Amino acid sequence: MKTHRIALFDMDGTLADYDGRMRRDLKRLQGLNETEYALHDNKAPKYFGARLDLIKAQTGWWLNLPKLKIGFDLMRAAQELGFHVQILTMGPHDTPSAWSEKVQWCHKNIGRSVKITVTEDKSLVYGSILVDDSPKFISAWLTHHADGLGVLPAQPANDGFQHPRAIRYDGSNLEAVRKRMKSVLD
Ligand SMILES: [Mg+2]
Repeated sequence: MKTHRIALFDMDGTLADYDGRMRRDLKRLQGLNETEYALHDNKAPKYFGARLDLIKAQTGWWLNLPKLKIGFDLMRAAQELGFHVQILTMGPHDTPSAWSEKVQWCHKNIGRSVKITVTEDKSLVYGSILVDDSPKFISAWLTHHADGLGVLPAQPANDGFQHPRAIRYDGSNLEAVRKRMKSVLD
């Protein structure tokens, strides 16, 4: 099947296990009886955010993030349908080293031919599908792409998220997701 349709794929929480690796590293720095906070908890104290920043600033941290199966399932499905897969990832504003390591991660885990956009505003980037675990990014991107489809690999932060042009993939409903992806081609 020949198509010029583009499927954009997020990295952290989609193709790369940011959350899993971050929780593991935070655990190592946690004191006895210390309160545990959720990773994306805006109300967590300042020191918690500072720990995250220190962990992320380590050389090689982004490059060595493990692959996330749920995202690679979706990538294979998109490729099988004939979509051109491209990477669309946030460049962390305060961690410039991550921008380069994210590119290296893609070369190592996906291949050197994949096209990559590292950006501070995903909503501006053209595509037919965006696969991204963040409800915030999916919503913003769908606003700018009237015919676009959003696909969310299941993460705690997108539990219960609903949008008429989005579908959540929890590892068990690949056929339903494939159907929605295919409808973008028709
Ligand atoms: Mg993400």
